[in-house]
Amino acid sequence: MNVIARLSLGLIALIISLLMISDLLFDVIPDRDEILRESRQHTAESLAVQIVALLESADIAVLSKTLQEVATRNPDILSVAIRKSSGEILMQRGDHARYWTPPESGKSTINAIQIPIYSEQKLWGNIEIAYAYNGAKGIQKLLTSPTFMLISILAFAGGALIYIYMRRAMQYLDPSSAVPGRVRKAFDILNDGILVLDKSGRIVLANESFKNLSSHEETELNGKKISDLEIIKPVLKKLPHELPPWEQAVINQSTVTEKPLSLRDRNDKIKEMLVSAQPITDDGGQVRGYLVTFNDVSALHESNLQLQEALDELKNSRAKMEKYNKELELMATRDPLTGCLNRRSFFDKAENVFAFALQGNKDLFCIMADIDHFKSFNDLYGHHIGDQVIQAVARTVNSNLRPTDLFCRYGGEEFCIILENLTLSEAEEISERIRKAIERTGSASIRNTDVKTITMSFGIASITEGSTTLEELIEQADNALYMSKEAGRNLVTVWKQPEYH
Ligand code: GH3
Ligand code: MG
Ligand code: MG
Repeated sequence: MNVIARLSLGLIALIISLLMISDLLFDVIPDRDEILRESRQHTAESLAVQIVALLESADIAVLSKTLQEVATRNPDILSVAIRKSSGEILMQRGDHARYWTPPESGKSTINAIQIPIYSEQKLWGNIEIAYAYNGAKGIQKLLTSPTFMLISILAFAGGALIYIYMRRAMQYLDPSSAVPGRVRKAFDILNDGILVLDKSGRIVLANESFKNLSSHEETELNGKKISDLEIIKPVLKKLPHELPPWEQAVINQSTVTEKPLSLRDRNDKIKEMLVSAQPITDDGGQVRGYLVTFNDVSALHESNLQLQEALDELKNSRAKMEKYNKELELMATRDPLTGCLNRRSFFDKAENVFAFALQGNKDLFCIMADIDHFKSFNDLYGHHIGDQVIQAVARTVNSNLRPTDLFCRYGGEEFCIILENLTLSEAEEISERIRKAIERTGSASIRNTDVKTITMSFGIASITEGSTTLEELIEQADNALYMSKEAGRNLVTVWKQPEYH
């Protein structure tokens, strides 16, 4: 039942109750039986006056005729009799014994009217008139009673009139009807959900988009506060310490822009909204209401999420690519067994360093180093242990070099080192240090305990000895290495240009 019908029903029920209370207290609704009884009483009383006069004149014939007249003229009268106070009937018309039922209290009823006759101030007798009761009885009496009829008319006709009147009145009072049709249409074509609130923050207008979103009829939305709407309640639970934008706008009388809120629509789909609320002011700057907009950015949000996912994936694959590239570079520039520079990348770097030193007239050293009697490790313990010996030696050499020094696995168990920014004695010292370290600890990391000592021979060449190419410098170092081998191994030899005499 709609609101107007309910209001009308309430009003009509109120009117009927008031009417019944007034009838109970002041008897405002006439009783038809009572009116009939009173008119019969009057007729009977005027008859009594005549009869008394006729009795006094003892004109029996006229009296009899009068009674006859009365009985015939009133079709309602069944019988009429004059009864003396002794109970004896003086005269009667009609079958009085059949129709007369003496009223119990002595007071006339609607069908039995009794009028006392006095003679010399004493009760002489009664005139008794038995009337036919032609009124309704039982349920029919109830249905035809004035009270029932009045209530029925009020309920139906009054109810209908009140309903029509209320509808008219509501049209005038309906706040949403105050918004011109064209404004409403303009709101309706917008994609954003729009609510117009009155000064106290109650909804006076909702556009089509908002109605579709909330699945509420406009009549259900009007007069409500946004925070009381079913669709909004779950949103508020997520903002326990913060006022929603529409309440902020009402309390602070200020504009709140694009507050992100997510709510579930009537299909239980999550909608990402940007909610804005702003006061509407009149020409004098007085706040007349508020405009709240719900901008659905779900699609944008969705594509943002997808974009973010794609970006994350891109970042991931870039990190992977970088890792692979590094691995590739390592594979391309390093010796897989020892991690030292391989020959190709060593030459790339060493050529630069050599050219730089030559150009800058700086000293540069090349050390060639070869494991002594390496073949015997292979022969005695197998190729696998031979590999471990090469790795152990490379580790020891590397731990005694600076990160900027170039360290290369030049051949099977032969290494080449380029050192810059040093003096010859420092280069010799480093070589000596490495030689001693290998002699002392070289075999420590070899699992096979049979490998007792590893030694290595070194040859050092300096650019100052006149080499003009890197290859020449390396060759000189190799010659010095050969000299170390010749001299008994486990030695460091510095290349010196032979003196020609
Ligand atoms: P010395 O240098 O003291 O004159 O004696 P040597 O026994 O070390 O002589 P040489 O340099 O001729 O021996 C090198 C041997 O190293 C030959 C080869 O079989 C072995 N070899 C070369 N590369 C590898 C390798 O990668 N792993 C192993 N296990 N052995 C290698
Ligand atoms: Mg060797
Ligand atoms: Mg060798």
